[in-house]
Amino acid sequence: MKANEVLDMLKRRFPNEPEYHQAVSEVLGTIEEVYNEHPEFEKSNLIERLCIPDRIFSFRVTWVDDKGQVQTNMGYRVQHNNAIGPYKGGIRFHASVNLSILKFLAFEQTFKNSLTTLPMGGAKGGSDFSPRGKSNAEIMRFCQAFVTELWRHIGPDTDVPAGDIGVGGREVGYMYGMYKKLARENTGTFTGKGIEFGGSLIRPEATGYGNVYFLLQMLKTKGIDIKDKVVTVSGSGNVAQYTVEKLITLGAKVVTMSDSDGYIYDPDGIDREKLDYIMELKNLYRGRIREYAEKYGVKYVPGARPWGEKCDIAMPSATQNEINGDDARALLANGCFAVSEGANMPSTPEAIDEFLKARILYAPGKAANAGGVSVSGLEMTQNAQKLSWSAEEVDQKLKDIMANIHEQCLKYGTQEDGYVNYVKGANVAGFMKVAKAMMAQGIL
Ligand code: NDP
Repeated sequence: MKANEVLDMLKRRFPNEPEYHQAVSEVLGTIEEVYNEHPEFEKSNLIERLCIPDRIFSFRVTWVDDKGQVQTNMGYRVQHNNAIGPYKGGIRFHASVNLSILKFLAFEQTFKNSLTTLPMGGAKGGSDFSPRGKSNAEIMRFCQAFVTELWRHIGPDTDVPAGDIGVGGREVGYMYGMYKKLARENTGTFTGKGIEFGGSLIRPEATGYGNVYFLLQMLKTKGIDIKDKVVTVSGSGNVAQYTVEKLITLGAKVVTMSDSDGYIYDPDGIDREKLDYIMELKNLYRGRIREYAEKYGVKYVPGARPWGEKCDIAMPSATQNEINGDDARALLANGCFAVSEGANMPSTPEAIDEFLKARILYAPGKAANAGGVSVSGLEMTQNAQKLSWSAEEVDQKLKDIMANIHEQCLKYGTQEDGYVNYVKGANVAGFMKVAKAMMAQGIL
């Protein structure tokens, strides 16, 4: 099957999965040229095998809420591709979770993990369980019930889950605790664990820090200094918090953060003390970003995203499809010259077209947010060796990996006129490695 026929086939066979189609379409649109240079790929129907997940597990998760009522949710694990290493990818708990979203994330993860240079395949999992408003005890019971089903499909050399939206250190801890009890092993089959039981230093920071390191690489190609640049960030969870932390350290001015209810605009910039407040608000009290506006007397815009605010750089760090064509045009009209994606697929295809047309620095999530899974890979190495590395050591390795990913994007994405198409660069680099590994291992 030819690359351009695959999307039609997927739409026919898997209708009603728009996010999955969107992710596949974005990759196919950029790899066609290299794919066609390798007739052996088509002979072995490589592209179809690469787009359809190896397998999907779905299961019912039953748990008891604080009122004693029995609740059910759906749980899933999509094991997409393990050509270059064990399946690896986060777990998402959010009311919107469905198979389309998890298939898009697992597909993206496969290319992202390939880019990291570490031996990891691609996977993703999750549940339509919403942690919002749940007590700590309810979260724990849910995590335990979820793993009671999931545990038989994962293991240190088969499939290693981690966090994602709605799953942070607390949830990973509860899931790993239950996993250990059932599997009777202590081999670290989750990453993002607490530092006391096999977690890696810098893992919580890795996605946000890594995104800023990637941004610095892009800015360097233009000789631009990050200092005093105005940055809009969306989200206020794990990725957003550590993106903002690193930006503050480097002297940039972050003027927005958001959650699913709205965004705050702070013209003076979010400083260290204000970020500490947000971290406490979000990680401890599970509050709303609106409360920041009330505390510091700044603007709060309910039901909106921050892309209409003037900025030099935008770093979407909340969720998929949070920048549409209009948002992209608003950013560009306000002078934004760089977009670096902390979230997965936050820009719609129309928004991506706008960024590329305007020839700004635009880093897709699979390159820019690969720092998280990279340090997860380093956590796996530390667990296998049964030792831990210092924060400085991990941070340096993270910087090196992000620089390496940037190099690969330059290699495969630099156009004849000198413009770097990071979308193409990341997709081609990620694809070629997985494709070669699949070819070498025969028709499976
Ligand atoms: P968190 O759950 O810690 O934070 C998510 C943030 O995004 C919250 O502020 C949340 O608001 C907001 N959000 C979630 N869903 C929506 C929505 N539908 N509309 C608007 N806002 C929303 O998740 P992470 O920070 O871990 O993940 C953020 C993004 O980064 C995701 O796309 C994830 O896939 C990606 N990512 C995460 C990695 C990681 O290491 N954690 C690694 C690579 C990518 P609210 O509190 O109201 O729900």
